Amino acid sequence: MAQVQILGSAAAEGIPAIFCNCRVCRAAWENGGKDMRFRAAYKLNDHVRIDFGPDSLAQEYKFKLHSENLKHLFITHSHEDHLYLNLLNYRMPGFSVVEKDNILHLYGNPGVIRELNRHLWDKSYHYFTGDYKRFRLQPVALEMFQPVVLEDEDMEFYPLKADHMIGIPTEIPNFFVFRMGKSWAMIANDTGVFPQETWDYLEKMKFKLDLVISDCTGCLLDSERGHMSGKYALGVRQRLKQIGSVTDSTKYYVNHFSHNGNATHAELEAHFNPHGIEVGYDGLVIDF
Ligand SMILES: [Zn+2]
Ligand SMILES: [Zn+2]
Ligand SMILES: [Zn+2]
Repeated sequence: MAQVQILGSAAAEGIPAIFCNCRVCRAAWENGGKDMRFRAAYKLNDHVRIDFGPDSLAQEYKFKLHSENLKHLFITHSHEDHLYLNLLNYRMPGFSVVEKDNILHLYGNPGVIRELNRHLWDKSYHYFTGDYKRFRLQPVALEMFQPVVLEDEDMEFYPLKADHMIGIPTEIPNFFVFRMGKSWAMIANDTGVFPQETWDYLEKMKFKLDLVISDCTGCLLDSERGHMSGKYALGVRQRLKQIGSVTDSTKYYVNHFSHNGNATHAELEAHFNPHGIEVGYDGLVIDF
């Protein structure tokens, strides 16, 4: 049995969103609990996580994460709600005690690695010489549809092409199918309905997924491109069923919600639960 913990369930602004006085944010302040959402990230085990946004420190305290044990960090794309580069500065000597052989592998598409380089060169430390050892960091550029195997963890990751950053295509964002032991999962945040290449790959690979966590940025609104929600989120599950990757025994969640999608946790459940889809929230631990 494998396990994933949802560390954050919001899109970029968080819920309640900073500065915001909309209905959903007011309801979140009033209701607390599942309506309070950090920016999306996932713990797969003590060594492996997906995404590392600006709430990473708060998530560290709330969920007792102990990032000194983190070894493999998979990044979907360089938007700051998924990769908050400033936090990586503190792996430098003088900021934290990190043993020499404690290397954090950071996996991302070439645009993610470019942003990491640019940050270390331009913004933070002019004495960064391309030597990641100072940060105890090892960047690993992902190639779309090329699996990465973590033998020590008994895991493998398949980067799939997302439909995201369509207005400003500075990189090709990805999301992941991965195996943990004998269990298979897909975590697909920040993608619209999948691009054709991704559907073609899924049809070829015939993954049998035990868990899917799907993007639902626009909540109950019907959005198709860049993010998905409403009837398009349902349509993606239907298509995954048609190709045999999802069955009635697959645990299926929606996550990564924007307050602009105008739905509280209870409203999301009222809409999605009758379809056999659960609604993500911060701290939720899913066995699969
Ligand atoms: Zn996002
Ligand atoms: Zn709001
Ligand atoms: Zn994004």
